[in-house]
Amino acid sequence: MNVAEAVALKAEHGSKAVYWAGGTDLYLLMERRGLKFNHCIDLSRIDRLKGLSDEGAFLRIGAMTSLHRVEREISSHPSMAIIGETIRLMCTPQTRTLATIGGNLCHAAPSADLTPTLIALDAQAVIAGHHGERTLPLADFFLHVNKTALEGAELLAEIRLPKATNRRGAAYRRVARTVVDIALVSSGVSLQATPDGAITDARIVLGAVAPTPVRVTTAERMLVGKNLSKLSDGKFLAEVSQAAADASAPITDIRGSEWYRRRMCGVLTQRAIASSAAQIREAA
Ligand SMILES: Cc1cc2nc3c(=O)[nH]c(=O)nc-3n(C[C@H](O)[C@H](O)[C@H](O)COP(=O)(O)OP(=O)(O)OC[C@H]3O[C@@H](n4cnc5c(N)ncnc54)[C@H](O)[C@@H]3O)c2cc1C
Repeated sequence: MNVAEAVALKAEHGSKAVYWAGGTDLYLLMERRGLKFNHCIDLSRIDRLKGLSDEGAFLRIGAMTSLHRVEREISSHPSMAIIGETIRLMCTPQTRTLATIGGNLCHAAPSADLTPTLIALDAQAVIAGHHGERTLPLADFFLHVNKTALEGAELLAEIRLPKATNRRGAAYRRVARTVVDIALVSSGVSLQATPDGAITDARIVLGAVAPTPVRVTTAERMLVGKNLSKLSDGKFLAEVSQAAADASAPITDIRGSEWYRRRMCGVLTQRAIASSAAQIREAA
């Protein structure tokens, strides 16, 4: 099967068919939430959707690449090491051999761990449908809880990660009740700086504190143009982390209170910024 044939099958069967990737989310949806469908379109034999490749200006990751394979092969791309670090926090090693990067994104869970990391790295989503392919920023891919920008029979084909133009440091921090639990709050940060330490790009993305990932543009603007040395100013860092807390819209549920989650947005963002800055300094 190829991508066009998969799309045609989905168009033919509509809501009675689902795309099946690793099945780790789908199986739970069937077992626990009574999801019913008549047809499963297995994407696992479509080579176009698998693997990592260096395309010069960007790194391409096929949507059907397992988390295990991404974690293993991303080590050849040191500037993207944060992706491997994020994956190692997810699921269990067994689940990661089945679960795919595309399935993680298409399920669109607010707590999904890869989402803040990939948006912080300015990832683009390549979507395939009846009329060919379209690309949109991954930040625009998420419309609501479990709702993405995929329309009709479209499927997610690949993720593109632009190479950094300056020295980059990136970090992901999360809190969860147990090692195998979903994130209560998470924060993904990417900083780029010139050799003399001027910050040229900053991206801060919160997870699990709103229906979709939250870009903290207020805090990003506070960082761009500053020197990395400014990050040792405790008052300044506190203002940046407060901006992150203010941007969140968390809920209270069995896992934690709204107050705790908001507070942790600031704490995790501060830690992720400090780690990103340290990476840039160490590489200098
Ligand atoms: C025990 C356990 C622990 C977990 N822990 C974590 C965790 O710590 N962090 C975390 O983020 N997640 C976690 N998960 C969630 C899960 O592993 C991931 O979301 C996984 O990556 C989903 O990928 P999949 O290939 O199994 O998707 P599937 O279950 O096959 O599909 C998920 C959804 O995406 C759709 N889909 C899949 N691929 C495509 C595509 N290419 N185009 C269009 N639609 C597509 C499917 O139709 C379905 O609606 C956990 C799951 C389990 C079972």
